[in-house]
Amino acid sequence: MRFILFHNKLIPQKTNTNGSKRISQMDLIPQPQPNPNYPFNPKLQLLLSGKQLLFDDIPFPLEEIQEHYENGYVTYRKGIKYTAGKKPYCVRCGNKKPYWFAVYPCARCQEACIYCRRCLMMGRISECTPLIGWNGPMPDAPLPSKILAWQGSLSQGQLEASKRVVEAILQNKEWLIWAVCGAGKTEVLFAGIEAALATKKRICIATPRTDVVLELTPRLKSAFPDIPIASLYGGSEDRHVFAPLTIATTHQLLRFYQAFDAMILDEVDAFPYTVEEALQHAAVQARKLTSSMIYLTATPNEKWQRECRTGKRAFTTIPARYHRHPLSVPEFVWCGNWKKSLRKGKLPENVLCWIKTRLQNNKQSLLFFPHISLMEEALPLVKKLAPATEAVHAEDPCRKDKVQRMRKKEILFLLTTTILERGVTFPNIDVAVIGAEDLIFTESALVQIAGRAGRSKEYPKGVVTFFHYGKTNEMIKAKRQIVSMNREGIARGLIDV
Ligand SMILES: [Zn+2]
Ligand SMILES: [Zn+2]
Repeated sequence: MRFILFHNKLIPQKTNTNGSKRISQMDLIPQPQPNPNYPFNPKLQLLLSGKQLLFDDIPFPLEEIQEHYENGYVTYRKGIKYTAGKKPYCVRCGNKKPYWFAVYPCARCQEACIYCRRCLMMGRISECTPLIGWNGPMPDAPLPSKILAWQGSLSQGQLEASKRVVEAILQNKEWLIWAVCGAGKTEVLFAGIEAALATKKRICIATPRTDVVLELTPRLKSAFPDIPIASLYGGSEDRHVFAPLTIATTHQLLRFYQAFDAMILDEVDAFPYTVEEALQHAAVQARKLTSSMIYLTATPNEKWQRECRTGKRAFTTIPARYHRHPLSVPEFVWCGNWKKSLRKGKLPENVLCWIKTRLQNNKQSLLFFPHISLMEEALPLVKKLAPATEAVHAEDPCRKDKVQRMRKKEILFLLTTTILERGVTFPNIDVAVIGAEDLIFTESALVQIAGRAGRSKEYPKGVVTFFHYGKTNEMIKAKRQIVSMNREGIARGLIDV
């Protein structure tokens, strides 16, 4: 796409005509004011409100989109801008790293065109790509007489956090909810979502993981049965749905621009920082300039923990689970050079003993390994003792099936990499980490892993054992975090002792 400037408006050109430029090269992009006499297309309004889409994303002819622009209802923004040092950066995903850009001979602008590789899976952003948005009134979503249908009750810890969420949403504040694994954080959001909807605020819950979107969607649909909900992840069908309540993967936020009055970011810590940076960018630009931001996590990183301790970050903890029992505190057990033992076809003696005890008591267990290869060396050794043993990892095509069989108690021991560190809940299990000293086991990973035990009211206790060949700081910090949450839970009367 190329444009010329004519009567202070951008006019698209199909060919490389004299004086035409790519949008990235235009000094200024004029924005006509909405013409009150123009009958804008309400379908385009629904599609574009709070979005930044590409022409390819919009199932309307270019002429119609352009007419809306000329009448002030559509905005064009640059997809690629340049820094002061003339380096490109991607407006959509915030990428500035030169190695994430490439050049190709572009048919649309008939020039060599720089494009961003980092967000390519959401459609190509290049120097000739406008980001298309809406400049007219927002669509009106009528409210049902009753917004929230959920009838459950909150624990005392949940209730305190829930009040904070409502307050932050109504006052456009930023707030962190630091809730231990199994605290029941979804219910904590309900009152806040209700308050947002009641005051006509558009709200979004974003999470890095598709699994979480899929799990949250039915729960929110049953809590808010009369509210239109858009559930967005790669390949979902709700892509063009306008809804007051959106549940999306953080990737999908790249299509939004100043859309939400309230943003809830769940499991901010679930990805390494480099990935998180891009996702944070997406979350920030999807918010309106005046809006609230609620962060939810069980394991804030060290920087955030420090900010909490020093009063630089507003936060509320839920230090106890719904069932009022303390979190299982991991026990550290030295198991020697376990990799060497595995190479000799043996499990360390104390690991073997741990497994045998569970076998005798028929106690289901999760055994975490730092790497697939080591896990696979251990698999036949455990299987020899207990045939009902399986192993899973991220690329395992049978992953879902194995988790399902574990739920049905067809599997006694499930060996796993960190892939099961969060999200899955089995009611009555013990947990072991073999090689807890490995770098992959960060404080947050270990807290999440320990958090798999004791989830249900019926079985609130589960043994957590970290087998190691040398204690690490991460192990110590993880244990300290768990112990301090339990202490706080007792002090606040949220745990029965
Ligand atoms: Zn181009
Ligand atoms: Zn990009």
